[in-house]
Amino acid sequence: MSMIEFHDVEKYYGDFHALKNINLKIDKGEVVTVIGPSGSGKSTLLRTINGLEQITSGKLLVNDMDLADKKTDMNRTRRDVGMVFQHFNLYANKTVLDNITLGPRLVLKQDKAKSEKEAMDLLKMVGLADKSASFPSMLSGGQKQRVAIARSLAMHPKAILFDEPTSALDPEMVGDVLDVMKKIAQQGMTMVVVTHEMGFAKQVGNRIIFMADGTILEDSSDVTDFFAH
Ligand code: ADP
Ligand code: ADP
Repeated sequence: MSMIEFHDVEKYYGDFHALKNINLKIDKGEVVTVIGPSGSGKSTLLRTINGLEQITSGKLLVNDMDLADKKTDMNRTRRDVGMVFQHFNLYANKTVLDNITLGPRLVLKQDKAKSEKEAMDLLKMVGLADKSASFPSMLSGGQKQRVAIARSLAMHPKAILFDEPTSALDPEMVGDVLDVMKKIAQQGMTMVVVTHEMGFAKQVGNRIIFMADGTILEDSSDVTDFFAH
């Protein structure tokens, strides 16, 4: 069962050709690591999947919805596909708990009690149950990123995209964030992860994509073999 399908996708920013003839199928439950030099189109690839960027031509299906079709409800797609950013993007003036419950309450129309119960369960899962009343400014980078991941999960996504989730962190914080991502992967979540963490790619990912200059140069399900050459 595929979750994401690119068929002959092209993406231009004005005259700049950012994605070139992308053909890619990602199945439900796959954990795909995307690597490649800066400027190769990795972030653009992720951003098209949840509709933050529109493709110029070709076909892009996410959870069987055609993103170029005017009838597709893009709010629904953004809800179904979570995104975790390098710089966390938490609401500074809201507590950790409120950061997590806001989306479920406003968008999913969940009631307060259910939203808070789920948020607390997620905070336990990411190891931050004692931080529910804290504000983001009181947290370390690694803690902020774990809150951002919990916030994404609270929306009951069908897939989560990670755009360099550990690149802004001090090295000693990286492990905790990767451990949480590993847990989510083991629960069967479909994940597309742009990262420089080759340990994650090898241990957790079951597929690796190498991008260069807007194209997919390699797409390998044999992660060990990928690193052998
Ligand atoms: P990566 O994530 O691999 O670093 P990006 O997808 O961020 O690559 O960027 C690919 C190329 O597209 C870069 O040359 C970047 O400058 C360009 N680009 C990205 N976003 C935009 C934009 N909104 N407008 C114009 N050019 C962009
Ligand atoms: P990242 O570090 O996540 O790759 P960038 O600095 O490449 O972030 O891009 C940050 C934002 O600026 C994104 O929204 C991206 O689309 C936009 N952007 C990147 N390159 C360009 C560009 N050449 N022209 C216009 N916008 C750009």
